Amino acid sequence: MLNVVIFGKPGSGKGTQAAIIKDKYGLTHISTGDVFRKNISQGTELGNIAKQFMSKGELVPDKITIAMLESEIKGFMPCNGFILDGFPRTILQAESLDKLLVNLNLKIDLVIALDVPNKNLINRLLKRGKTSGRSDDQSKEKIDIRLEEYDNKTKPLIIFYENQKKFYSIDGVGSLTDVNIRLVDVIDSKCND
Ligand code: ADP
Repeated sequence: MLNVVIFGKPGSGKGTQAAIIKDKYGLTHISTGDVFRKNISQGTELGNIAKQFMSKGELVPDKITIAMLESEIKGFMPCNGFILDGFPRTILQAESLDKLLVNLNLKIDLVIALDVPNKNLINRLLKRGKTSGRSDDQSKEKIDIRLEEYDNKTKPLIIFYENQKKFYSIDGVGSLTDVNIRLVDVIDSKCND
């Protein structure tokens, strides 16, 4: 079993790369953003709550997000492993994830960050906003809030996972294939350790 967290700022390409990695290694891809968006489009209670935060560019509160992730993971068990995209995004989420996995006799093997400068991210997100229809991609102000949320709440996870000796960072600028090759290199070198 291989459990990977794909980590990075908004627009760093987590979802795109996770979708490729999932097929290559036969993993179950869980994107918290996608689960929230599905709930919003279905008008569920979870969706209605998440929407209030997502539309402003803020993180959805931990309690809600952690409960949602827990039910997703349990719902996909048993499986070959997970690729988590967009989770964890806070220290509390990371600690809760560790506890949940211990209870299931599992662990995170690798956390791989896609490193992309803010200037590229803002351009990518504004461009994506033209076709994605995502309200949080529509304005520079909302994108700035998402980047601030990352700096304040998500960035501390780098040290959290460095302390666990699981953190790797790759250059996330380049073609989809180039970035994917870098990602696969890290996974393969760690899996063959
Ligand atoms: P991106 O990483 O490009 O911003 P996502 O689809 O991963 O896109 O996330 C979109 C939004 O969904 C976030 O801005 C946040 O509001 C919400 N969200 C996703 N994952 C989490 C999480 N782990 N904790 C809190 N909120 C989350």
